[in-house]
Amino acid sequence: MKESIAIVGSGFLGLTLAKRFADAGHKVTLFESAPEIGGLASVWEINDIIWDRHYHVVLASDKHTRNIIEEIGLGDEFKWVETKTGFYTDGELLSMSDTKEFLTFPALGMISKLRLGATIFFASKIKNWRKLEKQSVEQWLTKMSGKKTFEKMWKPLLKAKLGEAYKETAASFIWATIQRMYSARNSGMKREMFGYVKGGYGRVLERFSDVLLKRGVEIRLNSRIDKIERLDSGKVRLIPAAARRHSDTKAKVQKTKYAQFEAAAVVAPGFSGAFLSEPQLSKNVVDFPETPMSQVFDKVIVTAPSNVAAKMLPQLDADEREKLEGIKYQGIVCASVMTRCSLSNYYVTNITDDTPFTGIIEMSAIVDKKEFDGNALVYLPRYIAPDDPLFDKTDEEIEHYFLTALEKMYPNFRKKDVVAFKVSKVRQVFPIPVLSYHESLPDMKSSVDGVYIVNSSHIVNGTLNINETVQLAENFFATNFTHYTNGSL
Ligand SMILES: Cc1cc2nc3c(=O)[nH]c(=O)nc-3n(C[C@H](O)[C@H](O)[C@H](O)COP(=O)(O)OP(=O)(O)OC[C@H]3O[C@@H](n4cnc5c(N)ncnc54)[C@H](O)[C@@H]3O)c2cc1C
Repeated sequence: MKESIAIVGSGFLGLTLAKRFADAGHKVTLFESAPEIGGLASVWEINDIIWDRHYHVVLASDKHTRNIIEEIGLGDEFKWVETKTGFYTDGELLSMSDTKEFLTFPALGMISKLRLGATIFFASKIKNWRKLEKQSVEQWLTKMSGKKTFEKMWKPLLKAKLGEAYKETAASFIWATIQRMYSARNSGMKREMFGYVKGGYGRVLERFSDVLLKRGVEIRLNSRIDKIERLDSGKVRLIPAAARRHSDTKAKVQKTKYAQFEAAAVVAPGFSGAFLSEPQLSKNVVDFPETPMSQVFDKVIVTAPSNVAAKMLPQLDADEREKLEGIKYQGIVCASVMTRCSLSNYYVTNITDDTPFTGIIEMSAIVDKKEFDGNALVYLPRYIAPDDPLFDKTDEEIEHYFLTALEKMYPNFRKKDVVAFKVSKVRQVFPIPVLSYHESLPDMKSSVDGVYIVNSSHIVNGTLNINETVQLAENFFATNFTHYTNGSL
């Protein structure tokens, strides 16, 4: 039987699920509060170039990401590049891209380096992450690498991603990070290779939306869902924000941001031209219908963060609500800097000194500068708690704060070389994997019949990345809806 399925959130989780349900013949409607699809992987315009709002690369070992990109017809569009890693420590920028550079790294003595190397190797061999979830990352790393190495290396790196929440984080976090790092090297390419689809995630998302629309998926942008309720009829009602505030909202036709791609490809000299080579591009530019009044579905899948999901569902049982609201998230302020000069040839520069941003990612160390009109594209992320005062600073204040520090760190960098600076702020990016994290996770099938809540909190033994996200969607669909694909409904 054909069912009507609503999916809340158009990140990679929502998009992948939309495809699976639509492929199985169901009627899918995708609701997205933002004016574009993609969530954390969405794109924006910087200096007339459409590129990822947050830095994204694909690892050769990301088989789920590669499969879905293959499935939407862009599998041949990957570009693979060998990457280098830098370390900014004690006011100095050093290369840390191979074993020789690691052994000559001046910030640690030889014994400390050997213990650090042994910790990474040992973690890469551990199979049972559940034991590591019972001890704190601080305790485990101190035991494995020694106090000095923990203070000098591990602590700044943990703080860079987790802030002060590193103190309550389980050792399984570092295990998952090391496993991902190792998988990048052991994927058959020997060297550390990172990939991207020519045109960036903008191109992937544009194609994804096109594929979904052709399968009959309805995509509703600017449609924040405020409330979800189970009706006596057994159906589930979704109430969008606008419908609750103004029941008489006038019809508005929304166009996706992807309508701009064609223009961007034309105006940006040196742009890969990828979109221009796409046949019948204008057909991909879709008019989305007016935001509807409340609507009724057979099943609803919410992919928004857990506490946001809890707010939408007044009928949840108390225990489940407490679990959902108890999941603690880490947020991010991430600046995109388009500048005339590269900072370095490192894709990632880890920082152990105290700086306003917690890492430096130079996208143009991987992506051909032609994609950026000949400029360099650098991201300056700072991972912070959702209530950190940095969220309340203006973009201009953040620009001044970040670029002043960058000038001090890189003698060749000048503020006047910056051609564009944009700030992304997201208060809920990933859940902090605290001690015994997976034990307090609520089921994906919620206590409200017909409603499922699945999001990055369910990535229990991995780090946040699109590969894990797509895998989560595949597992969720296979576990809860296998019967949807074998025609028994
Ligand atoms: C700085 C940064 C760098 C990253 N780098 C990489 C990388 O290099 N490689 C990689 O593989 N991954 C990377 N990731 C991770 C990747 O972006 C995520 O794994 C993925 O995007 C998560 O998708 P999702 O669908 O689970 O969540 P999201 O993308 O957060 O999607 C959730 C969606 O729900 C919508 N929503 C929320 N509430 C409502 C509501 N009430 N009504 C309607 N819609 C709602 C949101 O607007 C959002 O679009 C990075 C992430 C960040 C932040």
